[in-house]
Amino acid sequence: MSPDALAVVGLAILGLAIGSFLNVCIHRLPRQASIVSPASSCPHCGYVLRWFDNIPVVSYALLGGRCRQCRTPISIRYPIVEIVTMAIFVGHYLVFGWDIILVPRLLFASILIALFAIDLEHHLLPNVLTLPGIVVGLAFSAMLPPGLADALIGTLVGGGILWLIGEAYYRYSGQEGMGGGDVKMLAMIGAFLGWKLVILTLVLSSLLGSLIGVIVIAVRKGGMKHALPYGTFLSLAALCSSLFGSRIIAWYLALYQ
Ligand SMILES: [Zn+2]
Repeated sequence: MSPDALAVVGLAILGLAIGSFLNVCIHRLPRQASIVSPASSCPHCGYVLRWFDNIPVVSYALLGGRCRQCRTPISIRYPIVEIVTMAIFVGHYLVFGWDIILVPRLLFASILIALFAIDLEHHLLPNVLTLPGIVVGLAFSAMLPPGLADALIGTLVGGGILWLIGEAYYRYSGQEGMGGGDVKMLAMIGAFLGWKLVILTLVLSSLLGSLIGVIVIAVRKGGMKHALPYGTFLSLAALCSSLFGSRIIAWYLALYQ
């Protein structure tokens, strides 16, 4: 096998395994349960999953998406998270190649996947992910691009801008617009990506939010109240910035030369 193919296969397998672990985090973190013990079990009948029930995607397919013992349907989220994580891991290799930057960026992408799924279901961005994320992001940035100063400014800009928007919205409308979770999440994004890409993330997430908002209003004739939580847009925008941000910024700056 060529080194390229070997890297793709290796990252695909790693992505599936991490995706399987992210499923545990997505299920347990909002319920404030430990992510290490006990072993996974069926919430309906208590059947404890054995190793062969835990093979990413394969077990789900073989069991027809049902518990081995009581045949209660298992959420389609499990194989989806595993496949998406696999695709994102391989995508990082295609963008960055075999570079040490893969270590922080794959970790960052994994946290974003967990935050996306938890915010989608529970409208919650757990501190237990975002706060350590800020610290770990700054630590990596001190050793690798974008560098510590850039990342520190990114953390302050990211957290600060969103906090100000939230405050202004609250004063103006009397309604809580932005949760504290969004502020901490954007600070974490700044810690990993630096100030330029955190601003790009804000711009992309607003564009995406407006686009989806318009579609939701048009299709359901409802208000923005039923729209997706902001953390889901932030996750998508941050992932896009992490992968393609420097190219998007270079392209944008070239327009004005
Ligand atoms: Zn069961």
